Amino acid sequence: MKNIVILGSNFAGYTAALQLRKKLKRKSEYQITVISPTHDFLYVPSLIWVPFGRRKIEDIRFDLRPIFNKKGIHFIQKMAEQIDPDTNTVYIEGGEKINYEYLVIATGVKMNFNIVDGLKPEDHKINNIVIPKLAMKTLEKFEELVKDPGPVIVGATQGASCMGAAYEYLFNMDKELRRRKVRDKVKLYWITPEPYLGNFGIDGMPGGEKMLKLFMKMYNIEWITDASIEKIETDKIILKDGRELPYKMAMLMPPFEGADVMKASTKLVDAKGFVETKPSYQHITYDNVFAAGLAVQVKPPFEIKSTPFGVPKTGFPSDVTGKIVAKNIARIINGKTKLYEKEWGKIPALCIMDAGHKEVYLFANHLFKPRQFAIMLPNIFNDFGKILLEKYFIWKNKRGLAWLP
Ligand SMILES: Cc1cc2nc3c(=O)[nH]c(=O)nc-3n(C[C@H](O)[C@H](O)[C@H](O)COP(=O)(O)OP(=O)(O)OC[C@H]3O[C@@H](n4cnc5c(N)ncnc54)[C@H](O)[C@@H]3O)c2cc1C
Repeated sequence: MKNIVILGSNFAGYTAALQLRKKLKRKSEYQITVISPTHDFLYVPSLIWVPFGRRKIEDIRFDLRPIFNKKGIHFIQKMAEQIDPDTNTVYIEGGEKINYEYLVIATGVKMNFNIVDGLKPEDHKINNIVIPKLAMKTLEKFEELVKDPGPVIVGATQGASCMGAAYEYLFNMDKELRRRKVRDKVKLYWITPEPYLGNFGIDGMPGGEKMLKLFMKMYNIEWITDASIEKIETDKIILKDGRELPYKMAMLMPPFEGADVMKASTKLVDAKGFVETKPSYQHITYDNVFAAGLAVQVKPPFEIKSTPFGVPKTGFPSDVTGKIVAKNIARIINGKTKLYEKEWGKIPALCIMDAGHKEVYLFANHLFKPRQFAIMLPNIFNDFGKILLEKYFIWKNKRGLAWLP
């Protein structure tokens, strides 16, 4: 049997696997093999709620193995260590290797804590919410803060790209401190590499800056844009312009780079470990290698004149690129030569930002400018939209209905 190997089993990898199963008949000569270190699907966007006790990790993950079994998808719960695209081989932990006819890289990212001294989790200074283990630590630190309040810094370091999640965490921090009746004892700071509030790494949305400034003023949050961090000390963060911000608790979003397996597979990636693809998500050199989701290299479509920051790669485009990759592999197998193409920046923007006491819907026909349609709509009454999206996403994927929008 010929092997289609998919590395990674979350948004992009799981979607690609299920879509491939749907597109290739079960009795096809192709075996679909997913390799991933974890058998759980994790709904990453809800990690922002873990530090405030609004979600437990068990609430936002589910076991993928029953679905893989049902769909006849071979699953190997191991870490891939390296890819040799010249021999079509994936090297897996424990000395195993597997050959592929087609490869899908959906290994997500790794955090680059080396961007500033003192950022690493083992330095015990700065909290983080990108992975479950660190989000749980942030919950512990938040409980300590409530007992003994002091200044809080939330934001993103230079080079970061996931500012949206940090904004959500900030507004949830404000909301929860108020609910716990200690907000008046906490000075809250927002620091970001963005040149203006609400840039989000996509050069903003109409009315976005104004709306975020209003929220910051309304919730009494001090903000610093174009912020570059020089040094992190135990009780203060020093910016490159010399400003010193005291903190008792801080959460900073670090920059992302490719997963270790990709950094070790130098023929396939750029200096940061991201896979350079064509708009069909086929590798620029190796026609049988595809990438989807966070693993794809996406360059900012605008010039960054001051503090560096990156482009966010959110769940919707990760899902879309997983589907495109599956469609294109099925096309090649079915003898078609024309592949489906959609540049990352031309994928629609569909996002809900939880702003604590309220939420904001972001819709645009393209992630990047030029856009013909773009709107930010606040829902000032509640934040149910984000909850409904979470419930829908987990519901559809638990049932293997990845083809749904
Ligand atoms: C805190 C936070 C909040 C977010 N909020 C939102 C939001 O509100 N809306 C939104 O649209 N997006 C949001 N995002 C972004 C969204 O989570 C990502 O776009 C999405 O997770 C990307 O999916 P992916 O499959 O590419 O990568 P991931 O979800 O990171 O999955 C990577 C997969 O690769 C596997 N893997 C890693 N290394 C290896 C290896 N060596 N071998 C094999 N497998 C490997 C992992 O186990 C995992 O299964 C948020 C992100 C964060 C961090």
